Formats: sequence, C-alpha cells, structure tokens
Amino acid sequence: MTEEVLKVEHLNKFYGDWQALHDISFSLEKGKVLALLGPSGSGKSTLLRTLNGLEGYKSGSIYFHDKKIIPTPKQWQNLRQKIGMVFQSYDLFPNLTVMENILLAPVKVQKRSEAEVRNEAIKLLEQVGLSNHINSYPRELSGGQKQRIAIVRALAMHPEVMLFDEVTASLDPEMVRGILEIIQDLSDNEHMTMVIVTHEMNFAAKIADEVLFLENGKILEATPGKEFFVHPQTKRAQEFLKSMDF
Ligand code: ADP
Ligand code: MG
Repeated sequence: MTEEVLKVEHLNKFYGDWQALHDISFSLEKGKVLALLGPSGSGKSTLLRTLNGLEGYKSGSIYFHDKKIIPTPKQWQNLRQKIGMVFQSYDLFPNLTVMENILLAPVKVQKRSEAEVRNEAIKLLEQVGLSNHINSYPRELSGGQKQRIAIVRALAMHPEVMLFDEVTASLDPEMVRGILEIIQDLSDNEHMTMVIVTHEMNFAAKIADEVLFLENGKILEATPGKEFFVHPQTKRAQEFLKSMDF
C-alpha cells in the first residue's frame, strides 16, 4: 500500500504580474525522495517555499495526506510543524545557543516538555557529531556545523516531510559530504519523505526516487530518478546534466 503524503495539482504562482510557476502537478509517496532539478531561476525555491506556506499561489491545490490545504496563515502554521524546511543560509538565531535554537519551536510552538526535547536533541546532536557544541553560539561554528544544527532543529519538530533547498551550496567543499551523508541516512534509515533541491548531481542520482526537471517555472520532465540520470528525455535536460559535469 502506498500512501501519498504530498500532492500538488495545477499550481500557478505569480510574483506581481509575472508568472513564476506554471501548472505544476506531482505527488510524493511516503518514504520517497523527490529531487527538483533545473537551471538557476527555474522556480525550484519558489516551488519549495509554496510547499511550506512561505509563498502563496494564485490557483491550484496542495494536498497533505489527501486533505486539501486551505492556505490560511493558521493552517500553514500547523502544517509547518509537519513539513520541515532547511535553507541554503542556515537561519539560526544568532543570540541563542545551539540547544536553545533546537528547543525553541518544539517547546514554544508544540508545547512539548523541555526535558524530553532536550534529551532528543542530545541524541540528534550525537548523530551528527556535534554533541560537544551544545552550548556554542552559531558564530562559533563553521558553515557545515551550522547547517547540521539547522537540520537537527528541523528534525526535532518530528516532521513528516523535509524540504531541503540547496543546503550544501554555501559550504566549503570538504563540508559538503558530511551534510549529504546525513540526508542520505535520513532517507535510508528513517525513511523520511523528502523534496530536495541540489546541485550535487551524483548525490541526486543516488537518492532520488523521482525527478522533476524545471525550466522557466514549468515541469519539462517528470521521471523516475534512475531513468532521468541515464536517459533524460528532453534536450534541455541532457544539456543541463552535461553542464553539471554529470
Ligand atoms: P531557483 O530556485 O530555481 O533558482 P527561484 O524560485 O528562486 O529559482 O526563482 C524563480 C524566478 O522567480 C526567478 O526569475 C526569480 O527572479 C523570481 N523570483 C523569486 N523570488 C521572487 C520574489 N520574491 N519576487 C519576485 N520575483 C521572484
Ligand atoms: Mg533556489
């Protein structure tokens, strides 16, 4: 039995008069990984942000577990606890320690016990090799460490879906692998449902169950991951993969 976690139907999004997303439709089953690929400016971030309620849309529908999302601030506030997102720029609160950053939303928004979340945070920090930085401030951490904290902070909310927007793009090359391993592990061992925007094509080829290839806010290809990287259907996707040295 498969279970759809996210479904998007005929989504159209505008910035002012200009249409950024055109008739986007796809669905994502529980435990699967969807990679959003495409050149810069093709609408990948815009699409991810609409899936998290950070951008509105003009028409179309988004469903979470077969339930159509009514795009009000209140609904999105609830849904954002289930649909976690990590950005290229870590967005940690600079005036809070690592632990305080992680505790904030689970305790304040989800009203969970601080002791329980703290224990869980310690385990998660161990898993990402940062248990000795519990009381550090973000400024004391490297980019790679901050990004690991941002991932832990999102996971501490117990999301059902994780959205990753180029989370390794601003990291030094030697930091990239560690972050990709955490994401791979989330897929392999936690069976986390994920939507990933990345420029790491080898990683995408390994992890993606499905690929959406976007250009100019339109889906040019929707293909199983295995197929996309071996036999991209469109000339545009072939060129794109070549330009990424894949
Ligand atoms: P990608 O993530 O694929 O690089 P984006 O989703 O960031 O692409 O951007 C898609 C298009 O939408 C680009 O042309 C970009 O300039 C435009 N865009 C993104 N955000 C805004 C915004 N807040 N206002 C107006 N245009 C935007
Ligand atoms: Mg982007």
